Amino acid sequence: MTRAVYPGTFDPCTNGHLDIIRRAARQFDEVIVGVLRNSAKTPLFSTEERVNILREVTRDIPNIVVKSFHGLSVDFVKECDAQVIVRGLRAITDFEYELQMAQTNRVMAPGIDTMFLITSLEYAYLSSTTVKEVAAFGADLSKFVPPYVAELMQEKLKNRK
Ligand code: ADP
Repeated sequence: MTRAVYPGTFDPCTNGHLDIIRRAARQFDEVIVGVLRNSAKTPLFSTEERVNILREVTRDIPNIVVKSFHGLSVDFVKECDAQVIVRGLRAITDFEYELQMAQTNRVMAPGIDTMFLITSLEYAYLSSTTVKEVAAFGADLSKFVPPYVAELMQEKLKNRK
């Protein structure tokens, strides 16, 4: 069984993430989306909320499992008995960081490979950070995130005001 882990913060999951998830699901028997409990960042959505969002928006993809984790991605990958880390590459700016991460992970865990999926053109500009920025001004989010996420973001930001 081929199993991959797609790790990230997903605060929140965007159409770009979802595109990578769908495409990875076609390449592996199972894809585990790993939601990082990151104490260094203050996320808009809690880890549990991010996990629930991802479960909801991937309901129609049978070979997706969503779990949270903390610590090193390679340890989580081993725990999951997976062989591959999937990451999305948007622009050249992602490349340097991703290359460094992939090489560091390979030194720590030579049996685990990182595979990059190049972003679909229509999502190349999209990041969770910019979506949060425009959401704060009440913009229409329908082109950026699934409708369920747009609704939750609007609710969350309303409660913050
Ligand atoms: P991290 O904080 O680990 O970078 P993110 O949740 O921002 O987590 O992203 C997780 C992964 O998804 C990364 O590999 C990132 O490059 C990729 N990604 C983010 N946005 C997009 C997008 N619009 N298209 C393709 N890949 C993306």
